[in-house]
Amino acid sequence: MDVPIAFVERMRGLLGGEAAAFFAALSQPSATGLRVNTRKLASNQLATFLPWSFEAVPWCPSGLHLLDNVQPGKHPYHAAGLYYLQEPSAMAVAEALAPQPDELVLDLAAAPGGKATHLAALMGNHGVLVANEIERGRTRSLVQNLERWGARRTIITNETPQRLADHWGAMFDRVLVDAPCSGEGMFRKSPVAIDEWSVDAVQGCAVRQQHLLETAARLVRVGGWLVYSTCTFAPEENEQVIAQFLARHSDFALQPLQLPGAASGRADWLPAELVRSDMEYTVRLWPHHMRGEGHFVALLQRTSGSDASMKQRSIQPVSRLMRALWHSFHTATLTTDPAEDATLLAFGKQLYAIPADAPPLDTLGVVRAGLWLGTLQRDRFEPSHSLALALQSSNVPNRCDLAPDDERLRLYLQGHPLHEPGESGWVLMTVSGFPIGWGRRAQGIIKNAYPKGLRIHN
Ligand code: SAM
Repeated sequence: MDVPIAFVERMRGLLGGEAAAFFAALSQPSATGLRVNTRKLASNQLATFLPWSFEAVPWCPSGLHLLDNVQPGKHPYHAAGLYYLQEPSAMAVAEALAPQPDELVLDLAAAPGGKATHLAALMGNHGVLVANEIERGRTRSLVQNLERWGARRTIITNETPQRLADHWGAMFDRVLVDAPCSGEGMFRKSPVAIDEWSVDAVQGCAVRQQHLLETAARLVRVGGWLVYSTCTFAPEENEQVIAQFLARHSDFALQPLQLPGAASGRADWLPAELVRSDMEYTVRLWPHHMRGEGHFVALLQRTSGSDASMKQRSIQPVSRLMRALWHSFHTATLTTDPAEDATLLAFGKQLYAIPADAPPLDTLGVVRAGLWLGTLQRDRFEPSHSLALALQSSNVPNRCDLAPDDERLRLYLQGHPLHEPGESGWVLMTVSGFPIGWGRRAQGIIKNAYPKGLRIHN
């Protein structure tokens, strides 16, 4: 791997005698990881479903190192949302934020959704997760990943952090700032990160990170938690951002983080005027210490200040027709009402179940307002792919279960209809009992409702 000479010199200067081991690790292949969707199955269950070799990721109970050279993103279990492909070090971040069920949690820079899916799994079907992404184009992958994950109580917004802070203020129990950074920790995985790296880029990122952390802090309630993370080694983007933030904020305090295999942050890399002993509470994951890429994580708690009061959400009424069609769909097809503990909300012809305890959205740019239930099509209700993936197979009596290697499953994922006699109406398609999409059966033929954009071509 060819890295810029200025990067080599900087790291040699920082690491001294450790630099040789660091550069030796950078010349090795990167580690492959996947994280089990504990909303759908237990962490140790996945290995019983797949013939691949795994090893546990020490800092993440649902994380696995994948030891075989296979293509996990192409397996139908991936399409069913049983796991997320994630670099193992990145799994430390949501563990550090440690969201609790029933909390209000914000992921401020969420696309493509690695940490957001992890947070949603840790929260179960409780509380509310807001996953925000500033770049409109990147919200697409965020939506797809959270949809496949079966996340129900997640709001996806497309906003600037500034607008969110102005709108909501200090109301979140936990906020994650997984900051855009110079990406040095991803050099083994991303040639683009190497091409785009420069000392100037590091300085530019550091300025942007200061602003982002400052804005994020405005969203944390008193007693609430803030995690700041990057995937870079540069002290300017890590310890220095935290030390400068704390110099301005006596209302926040660093808290110790225990992540097996991680090293402490480096107070000795701070400029003299910023040195502080609690910097050892932050952690660094190094590729020459453990199997994973480079990461930095800091956990802060807000210790004083005042909270924002929760404003009342204004509810737009859902038309009687839509309500009636949804009711007849779910009573005919499902054994449960997935909107039972939520409020129905319509955006044009799209129907959503927004968690009753979601924060007010009003004029914000909302991409998904909770669980997308489906669409009003003339005189009938068409369930969404999101709904299929958020259900359990036991919620739908009329279903068609296929094995992962069944030729019919491949045909279904390609978008073909299937000749399968059975009860007419909406059919939940499942793989090994896990929902993967909808079909609609009439006269023994299941018409394909697998989304066109997700269909496979081989
Ligand atoms: N958390 C994501 C995950 O785990 O999949 C990765 C986030 S990535 C490290 C950083 C994100 O910050 C990108 O999606 C990028 O679009 C977003 N971003 C870039 N500039 C930003 C800014 N000024 N404010 C907020 N987010 C920004």
